[in-house]
Amino acid sequence: MKAPLPIVAAGTVILIGIFGCGGGGGGSSSGNTTPLSCGPEYLTPNYTQATDPGDNEPNLILTWPGFPLNVYYQTEETRTFGGNTFSTTDIFQDALARWVSASGGEMAINTISTTTGADIIVNVNQLGAAPGSGGTLGFTQVTYFPSTGQIVSARITINTWPGMTQAQFTNGLRGTTTHEFGHALFLQGHSDNTADNMYYQGSSSTDKVLSTRDANSFLTAYCGTFASRSRSREAVGAPGEQPVTITINCGH
Ligand SMILES: [Zn+2]
Repeated sequence: MKAPLPIVAAGTVILIGIFGCGGGGGGSSSGNTTPLSCGPEYLTPNYTQATDPGDNEPNLILTWPGFPLNVYYQTEETRTFGGNTFSTTDIFQDALARWVSASGGEMAINTISTTTGADIIVNVNQLGAAPGSGGTLGFTQVTYFPSTGQIVSARITINTWPGMTQAQFTNGLRGTTTHEFGHALFLQGHSDNTADNMYYQGSSSTDKVLSTRDANSFLTAYCGTFASRSRSREAVGAPGEQPVTITINCGH
């Protein structure tokens, strides 16, 4: 007769579940190369199991239980350079579109205009002065259930400051917002390779598109299951579990 699983073992099972569509988990598969099996090696190279060089903690993968996600751009700022006016909302939507593209168009997003029903809320925060070296360009707060790794809600804050150049307001904000959406969508941690948008240090004035590793990591987190995750699924934890909120600050 088997003894009850100790807590630690149960937790291990759950962590595998975060990655997976079941099935996976060790053992040599005899020669079948397709379909890809769910798990941290779903698409490689990726950084799902890398150590965040910013804090030396192992990366943690979280996922949304259902799509489409409702995204609310709560505040907006516009600036004019050389007669052309640029809107943060347009820039933010460009950034999110990159992750939609990385999903093969399968991650469904609704843009809404109220906090009610919003899954991800994005705000502009006007600093009094430019962030100095090592200062914060943006940060993301993610509320989730630790036992299941399911995300309940996320809030993104993107910093602006007086005297921003056009490159900072357009390219810099696009790169930073792409990065913050990566946190809001799946990654608590950072890439360990400077070529990736999700590297722990960003730039205030240059854009950075998603690398193959960024896309692979995102697809590996969801095991390609965007379309099958129904909106009716609410994030769940263990019985009685309260969700926790963590904040990731991203600097340059
Ligand atoms: Zn970051």
